[in-house]
Amino acid sequence: MNYLIQNAKAIASETAPDARDIRIRDGRITEMGLNLAPTPEDPETLVDASGCVVWPGLVNTHHHLAQSIMKGVPEGLNHNLGEWLSSVPFRYWPRVTPDMMYHAARLGLYELIRSGATTCADHHYLYHNTTSPELEEAVWQAAEELGIRMVLCRGSATEAGSHEGMIEHGIAAETIEQIIDRLDATRKKHHQAGPDAMKKLVVAPTSLIHSSSPEGLKAQARWARENNLKMHSHLLEVGFDESQARSKYGMSAIDYAESCEWLGPDVWYAHLVHSDPHAISRLAATGTGIAHCPTSNCRLGSGIAPAIDMEAAGIQITLGVDGSASAESGSMLQELNLAWLIHRALKGPRATTLEQVLEWGSRNGAELLGLHDTGTLDVGKAADLVLYDIDQPRFAGVHSPLMAPLMCGEPVHVRDSFVQGRQIVAGGQVNGLDESELTRNVQDCVSRLLREA
Ligand SMILES: [Zn+2]
Repeated sequence: MNYLIQNAKAIASETAPDARDIRIRDGRITEMGLNLAPTPEDPETLVDASGCVVWPGLVNTHHHLAQSIMKGVPEGLNHNLGEWLSSVPFRYWPRVTPDMMYHAARLGLYELIRSGATTCADHHYLYHNTTSPELEEAVWQAAEELGIRMVLCRGSATEAGSHEGMIEHGIAAETIEQIIDRLDATRKKHHQAGPDAMKKLVVAPTSLIHSSSPEGLKAQARWARENNLKMHSHLLEVGFDESQARSKYGMSAIDYAESCEWLGPDVWYAHLVHSDPHAISRLAATGTGIAHCPTSNCRLGSGIAPAIDMEAAGIQITLGVDGSASAESGSMLQELNLAWLIHRALKGPRATTLEQVLEWGSRNGAELLGLHDTGTLDVGKAADLVLYDIDQPRFAGVHSPLMAPLMCGEPVHVRDSFVQGRQIVAGGQVNGLDESELTRNVQDCVSRLLREA
C-alpha cells in the first residue's frame, strides 16, 4: 500500500526534524519533507495529519498478554510479588483455555496499539508438562490479525521453584527436552530472521533464579545461540532473587546468570530493580539490556530500577508495560510518562529528558529486539509510525506540541497507525476489531475464569 501523510504539526525525526509530510511505498518510508506533492502516476492514499504529531511506533519489550483478563484481582491488590504470583497469575494460569488466551491477547494488543505501540514482546509462559500448543497459537493469531509486530518470548520452567504458586496450583514443569522440542517447532513455524521481521521467537525461561536448573539454563542458552535467537527472562525484580541466588547457588544473582551463560548483547531482563553497582557493571560490560517496567514496579511495591545509573554505565534502557495483572493500564504511553517522571522524583529535574525517554520507548527497544529497520523515522526505514491527535482541549495549552503526548500522558487519541506500511489504526479505529464485541468477549472470559477458579 502507498500512502502520503500530510500536514502533521510536528514529526519526531532526527534526520528530518522540519518535515511535515511522509511518503510510504511498499512498507518503507521513501520521502520526508514539506508540502510533498501527490503522485497521480503512482496512486497513493492521502492521510490528513493536521492536528497530529507523528512518532515512531512505540516498542514494548516486556508483556504478559495472558494477564489482560486478570486485572485488579482483589486477592492480589495489596500483595508483594511472591504473594501476588500465587494469588493471581498462577491461580488462573491452569484455567486459561486457548479461546480465553485469544481474547486476552486481542485485548492486550488493542490496548498497546491504542496507546501508540507497533511492536510487542510478549513473555508468554503458559507452558507446562501437558500444555496445549493452541495456547501459543492464540497469541500468534491475535497479533497477525491486528497487524502488530510480535516477538514471542517463550517462557518455561523446569522445576516448581522457590516462588510460591506452581506447586500450590498443581502446575507440572516441562522437561528440558520438551522445552527445546517445542521451541524448535515454534521456530520452524513462525520465526523470521531479519531487521524487519513481523514475527520473532525468543528463548525466555520465566525465572532464572526460581524455576530453572543451571543445566537447563545452559542448554537453552546454547540452543538459542546456535539458532541466532535472543534470550530474555525476569531478574532482580525483588530482593528475594538476590537472597535466593545466594542461598541456592552461593553467589549473587548476576554472577549466577553469568555462570549459566545468561549475560550478553543477545540477552535482556525485565525489571532489574535491585541491581547493585556490581550488577550494573556486569550488565554493562556484557552488553545485557533491560526492559524497565515502572508501572508494574510501583503497583507491586518492588522499587524503582536505577535506569539513570544504568544508562550512564552504558546499558541500553528499553520500556515494557509488564502484564496487566500488575499494571492494569496496558499502555506504553503510560510507561513513557511514568519513566519521565519517576526518575526526576528521585534525582531531580535533570534526571530525564523527553527525547531520551521517547528513545527508550522506540529506538532502543527496536535495537534490543534486533528490529533495526524500525524504531526511528528516517528515509529507508520500515514505516512503523503513529499519529497522535493533539487537536483537543487538554493539549491545546501545550507550547511544545511534539512531546505533548509524553508530557500530558493518558488518555491519548491515536488517529492512525502503521506497521511496515500497513495501516492498523484508521480514524481512531483499530482495524479488524469491534470494541463492543471485544468488551463482551473479555467479560465472558473473566466470568468463566471466576467460575472455574
Ligand atoms: Zn513480567
